Amino acid sequence: MTTEGRPAYSVWRAWCALLVTLLAGVAAIGGAHAAIVATNARLGEHAEHTRFVLELTDAVDYRLFFLSEPNRIVLELPEIEWRLPPKAGIKGSGLVTGYRYGTFRKGKSRIVLDLATPAMVAVDFVMPPESGKPARLVLDIVPADEADFLAAAGWPDDESGAPPEPPVDAAAEAEPIDSQDGQFIIAIDAGHGGVDPGASGPSGTLEKDVVLQTAEALKAELETRGHFQVVLVRDDDTFITLKDRVRAGRAAKADLFISLHADSVSDATVHGASVYTLSETASDSVAAELERSENAADVISGVDLSGNDEVSTILIDLAQRETKNRSSIFAQMLLPELDRQTGLISKPHRFAGFRVLKAPDVPSVLIELGFLSNATDEARLTSPKWRASTAAAIARAIDGYYDRMASVAETRH
Ligand SMILES: [Zn+2]
Repeated sequence: MTTEGRPAYSVWRAWCALLVTLLAGVAAIGGAHAAIVATNARLGEHAEHTRFVLELTDAVDYRLFFLSEPNRIVLELPEIEWRLPPKAGIKGSGLVTGYRYGTFRKGKSRIVLDLATPAMVAVDFVMPPESGKPARLVLDIVPADEADFLAAAGWPDDESGAPPEPPVDAAAEAEPIDSQDGQFIIAIDAGHGGVDPGASGPSGTLEKDVVLQTAEALKAELETRGHFQVVLVRDDDTFITLKDRVRAGRAAKADLFISLHADSVSDATVHGASVYTLSETASDSVAAELERSENAADVISGVDLSGNDEVSTILIDLAQRETKNRSSIFAQMLLPELDRQTGLISKPHRFAGFRVLKAPDVPSVLIELGFLSNATDEARLTSPKWRASTAAAIARAIDGYYDRMASVAETRH
């Protein structure tokens, strides 16, 4: 009996496992269909408070927390599909100077409201959808005195409890720069994403979108060569910390890391491209200003950087001189190509302390493709044709760099 019973039991177990898998699949499909969509958001100034309203296709769970320096309210939601009007959040009202929203990580979305002064949420609630009206999440924001705000500000326990990164031993982890299997690996990092839109243009163009599209064009162009392996640090509209971008380049054992950005400044006549390589001190005030705004990405999105800097100062000191030399060699090859394609700003090779360039063993450059604040540059950045020819120009510089590195490798043998 036992010898017959066992096979029957195992068949039964297999059926149960199959059933569970099928049910889980159905649940997952059901879940995907039930994604809640944010359809509108508005700010209203009232006598006693500033009201923020988010309209959704269904009621959601949420939590709120406050952060200082700069003062913000963070509204955390399950993963939401965002279909807000294109300029939502750019303009503020009352106590709120503006807000950003997006996917923070899989399963989590955030809205970050920037505050003009310390403030608290006096009332918050969700109203379910009713007689054709959408669900509404409402926050009534009131002024608070600074001491009260600072007392309330801070990370939720599950966010602040993350241990700081262990220091990386650059010497131990450093891989030979030339790939041994002959594949030359290029990591393309489209700046910003998700909750962090980056710069924006007068007609509503977002940096995070145009740099992702350019990254995709560059990947397609490089893959026509056959000897490049291309890794996109992000391939969708997701927020990634600067630390994780550096980590992605290193994990891919990239031979070259290219971060793509587009700038915005108050002077609408400024246009053209520029290339940045790493320096501990910014080369001028423009570079310093830009460094602050690019490095602000993690602060903007509500990531705690305090005591958790992605690469310690010691690591930067250990950075191989060779990596910096190679970054500069590639930057010098990029400039004439970008000049022919789109024109350059004055002093187009600049130096700044961008966090994203700080891998000690991956030659890295940051390209500012142009200025979204300039009408011509904005039109170019939104043109698929321009992006394809810019990708071709960058790829030609990569070809030159690849040949140069191959000849360096040969003379060493
Ligand atoms: Zn940027």
